[in-house]
Amino acid sequence: HGQMATVFAKLIIDDHDYGVNAFVVPLRDPNGNVLNGVTIGDCGHKMGLNGVDNGTISFDNVVIPKDNMLDRFASVNDKGEFESPIPSDNRRFFTMLGTLVGGRIGIPRSALAAAKSGLTIAIRYSDQRRQFGPEGGSEVPILNYRMHQRRLLPHLAKTYAVHFALQYLTNRFLNRTEAEMQEIEALAAGMKSYSTWSTRDILQECREACGGKGYLSENRIDALKNDTEIYTTFEGDNTVLMQLVAKNRLAEFRKSFGEMGSLGIINYVYENAKTAIAEKNPIATRRTDDEHLLDGEFHLQAFVHREKTILASAVRRIKKLIDGGLEPYDAFNVVQHQMIDVAQAYLERIVLEQFQIAIKAVEDEPSKAILTKLNQLYALSTIEKNKAWYLEDGYMEAVKTKAVRKIVNQLCWDIRPDAVALVNAFDIPESCLAAPIAV
Ligand SMILES: Cc1cc2nc3c(=O)[nH]c(=O)nc-3n(C[C@H](O)[C@H](O)[C@H](O)COP(=O)(O)OP(=O)(O)OC[C@H]3O[C@@H](n4cnc5c(N)ncnc54)[C@H](O)[C@@H]3O)c2cc1C
Repeated sequence: HGQMATVFAKLIIDDHDYGVNAFVVPLRDPNGNVLNGVTIGDCGHKMGLNGVDNGTISFDNVVIPKDNMLDRFASVNDKGEFESPIPSDNRRFFTMLGTLVGGRIGIPRSALAAAKSGLTIAIRYSDQRRQFGPEGGSEVPILNYRMHQRRLLPHLAKTYAVHFALQYLTNRFLNRTEAEMQEIEALAAGMKSYSTWSTRDILQECREACGGKGYLSENRIDALKNDTEIYTTFEGDNTVLMQLVAKNRLAEFRKSFGEMGSLGIINYVYENAKTAIAEKNPIATRRTDDEHLLDGEFHLQAFVHREKTILASAVRRIKKLIDGGLEPYDAFNVVQHQMIDVAQAYLERIVLEQFQIAIKAVEDEPSKAILTKLNQLYALSTIEKNKAWYLEDGYMEAVKTKAVRKIVNQLCWDIRPDAVALVNAFDIPESCLAAPIAV
């Protein structure tokens, strides 16, 4: 039904290409008839989001007045000359792309809301639904099963973690300065991927955790799943965005080296050596006591170590490949898998760090205590997910990763009594939840 579109198209004047600019182009007349040269197609039925009218538009020799050019970043004067307050083509292009960042904050926040809804439905239901109890005893709520806790509660912890990380991202965006823009852009791209992948996994687990009831449309996990699944693709495909994040991390690394010079490199090596002595000695790599495993400082150190090591190793590999004569495009392609790890490790560190910072600001002691447990569960279940890496790297030995597994189980058990209160704290109105099994 749209009557106008904002079209991003190349501006070419006298064979000179001024890059992508934005133009308002009329599509239909007031009676809804499509204008000459415009072809509109409908995407047809989709896996979800069928309330959104997605389609394709193509243009063939469509003429528009010069005034229809959106001229915040560039315009054409009456003499037909190109003018812009941003002289560099490259910077202008990235400034315009920067307006996409807002969308890349909205999408993960929306994905987070869907994860919260799915978890509220699944956890409330699991607290009521009863199955086999001990021999001769009464049936028990399925959330008392250790496996059920294992399936849902690390996801609950991660959802809380992402909540705080997205608050941080939103605040950074709202208070941004131009100098910070590239970093914020990369952070938004990364958090978009992290949050939407997380929601995809969470909703699948919630669906299965509700058994047959989870499959019924009336319980709404199907709509939540179908509508948010595409979030991993639109507004930028997650895998592609993660490469943007990794490239930003590499650029930051290069910048520090450039600024620090050779003395900086010596410092970097020295810092790494210090870490190795403090954190990678036989006592630390085998330490399994609760006090250590639950310590937020240990968690953050482990995340930072992984982030730094993967980044430095990617830099070394790319440099070696390029020094060996490979074109940069091919070199990046060879290490593409590692680039995704660079981004993943960076995001996990940001998410953990922001969760820890947010908890410090909480004054209510019981809230602080339960949030701390959730934070520990997020940290340790992430370490558990990455345990192959920690073992390969020698940062932990098998006794320690086994102890991590055990303490993750224990944390799930400890959080279980508060699980319903923790999803109720999301405060989703019943009219929005609208799932009969979640009453
Ligand atoms: C419902 C819906 C609504 C949309 N709304 C809009 C909209 O309003 N405006 C708009 O402009 N667009 C919109 N899109 C388009 C959307 O942004 C694109 O679909 C998305 O960016 C992915 O591009 P693509 O479909 O061409 O996938 P492709 O680029 O073909 O990707 C296919 C696969 O290849 C992988 N891949 C691609 N490139 C690389 C690479 N360099 N390295 C490694 N792997 C790679 C991807 O990870 C993906 O798995 C919409 C799409 C959908 C489905």
